[in-house]
Amino acid sequence: MANIILLGPPGAGKGTQAKRLEAERGMVQLSTGDMLREARTSGTGMGKRVAAVMDRGELVTDEIVIGLIAEKLEKPAAGGFIFDGFPRTLKQADALGDLLASKGQALDAVIEMQVDDAALVARITGRYTCGNCGAVYHDVTKPTKVPGICDVCGSTDMKRRADDNEDSLKQRLMEYYKKTSPLIGYYYAKGQLSTVDALAEMGAVGAAIAKVLDKA
Ligand code: AMP
Repeated sequence: MANIILLGPPGAGKGTQAKRLEAERGMVQLSTGDMLREARTSGTGMGKRVAAVMDRGELVTDEIVIGLIAEKLEKPAAGGFIFDGFPRTLKQADALGDLLASKGQALDAVIEMQVDDAALVARITGRYTCGNCGAVYHDVTKPTKVPGICDVCGSTDMKRRADDNEDSLKQRLMEYYKKTSPLIGYYYAKGQLSTVDALAEMGAVGAAIAKVLDKA
């Protein structure tokens, strides 16, 4: 069992790898982005408050996402948690450490998924997912076998994210470099950081992550 963070800019492939780890190792993905999108879809007060912030590509407040994660940690995961898109600020990183400690748990590894910015634009602008099972696809690199039908569950409910466009992406990258990339140094200093080349083919990235996990 291991608790890990997948750390990297939007489009690095955190969600794709988290889904693999769920399937292969029985870990539980905790994506604050997914939780926030769910809150928007179900029309909660919080969902309405964060909608515009998310569409602009800015970060929502630390209090909101820390609250979401705290709630999820109440339910133990035998295979461990994959934190995907959280933490994104130093305050969130400290809060995560405290939350895990209060449950007698620790963080076992932080995996930085390294990519270059040009690749991110190409990845993000072609991205779509299955609204039913969450499988991730791409217009160019990984289209569904039958157009419009999910390979995994057969659903025709394909979704594109409102913030997967070039303007929002620029803002999301700016937020990443200003507020999230300091976490690389933070976890390096704690001796918890491993880096994988996230530009490699999906299976190779998965294998690199598996290697880190098997050592953790
Ligand atoms: P993601 O799906 O991880 O790319 O997140 C989509 C959007 O949700 C981000 O651009 C932010 O607006 C918001 N968000 C997700 N996770 C966080 C977080 N840990 N801290 C602040 N905002 C977040």
